[in-house]
Amino acid sequence: MSGYRTVEVDTGRTSMTDITDRVRDIVSDSGVGDGICVVFSMHTTAGITINENADPDVQTDMLHGLDMAFPDRPEFRHMEGNSHAHLRTSCVGPSVTVIVSDGELVLGTWQGIYLCEFDGPRRRRVAVKVVEG
Ligand code: ZN
Repeated sequence: MSGYRTVEVDTGRTSMTDITDRVRDIVSDSGVGDGICVVFSMHTTAGITINENADPDVQTDMLHGLDMAFPDRPEFRHMEGNSHAHLRTSCVGPSVTVIVSDGELVLGTWQGIYLCEFDGPRRRRVAVKVVEG
């Protein structure tokens, strides 16, 4: 398989969107049995993380915690006015790598892959690459 696929996500102002099923579909389409899957946010104010998919309060609390840890500050100089979103994005990170085994993502029972929006609402693009090996 050459190139990569993209997942498009319409986000909220700040939000966490579970994209696990859409990544699973790409892994399935790739035909790769064993390898790795890279999920990468092509943005500077939206990141990718893996966290709990059972209790939606976890996502609410994570967004609230990141808001408390990285608040918007009047001393920030960036003219776009969204330095807090840049900070949160680098804290979360731009990508995750998940093992693919027997054609399936190797995720724990309560793990989901999330696009984390810190400066929405916007349409975001996530690049997904599945590599055999
Ligand atoms: Zn900016």
